[in-house]
Amino acid sequence: MPKEAGNMKKIVIATKNQGKLREMRAALAMLPVEIVPLDASLPDAVEDGTTFEENARKKAHFYAQATHCAVIADDSGLEVAALGGAPGVHSARFAGHHGDDAANNEKLVRELTARGRNESPADYRCALVFEDTDGTAIAADGRCDGTVRTVPRGTGGFGYDPYFYLDEKSMAELTPAEKDAVSHRGKALRALVRELEVYLA
Ligand code: IMP
Repeated sequence: MPKEAGNMKKIVIATKNQGKLREMRAALAMLPVEIVPLDASLPDAVEDGTTFEENARKKAHFYAQATHCAVIADDSGLEVAALGGAPGVHSARFAGHHGDDAANNEKLVRELTARGRNESPADYRCALVFEDTDGTAIAADGRCDGTVRTVPRGTGGFGYDPYFYLDEKSMAELTPAEKDAVSHRGKALRALVRELEVYLA
């Protein structure tokens, strides 16, 4: 731990998703705060909201209470036009099991194929909420428009990335820095960092 870390404000990243943690840690590195991963033994927050922002607020509040620390929570997902906006807020558990990327991707391909489609316009959405120990909350969001296709490409990123294309490249073919520059989470993080720079000053 750097020497001054003991005096810095701690912010818990309220996610158990290692892909999200990696992306968020990198984007928040320039803030004068100590970034702390979530204790994996904590229970999951209830995510029964109907919007990404509502779920991010619920997660931020739940983990701020559980950790007695400031937290940043993310709720994100994929909206596919040909599926009427599904999986949306249900992206992590589209196939039934929370966070089973392979099963979710299989279901995505199955649902598109059942509609006679091999691609569809789609977007990724990300809502971020910072909640401080005194209950102060700051929200930011980001969106990335692209196309989902039934043929995967690339090994980077996580989740639906091999099936989500920006022009000819899938999100899983981008380097982490390239993904951050265009992704829903990268945009939301930059918006939140701008707000936090002012708030923490
Ligand atoms: P959450 O933890 O409820 O926010 O779940 C979000 C889900 O949306 C993840 O499990 C992924 O399936 C999907 N998702 C969100 N962001 C991304 C991304 O950047 N790439 C690929 N999949 C994503």
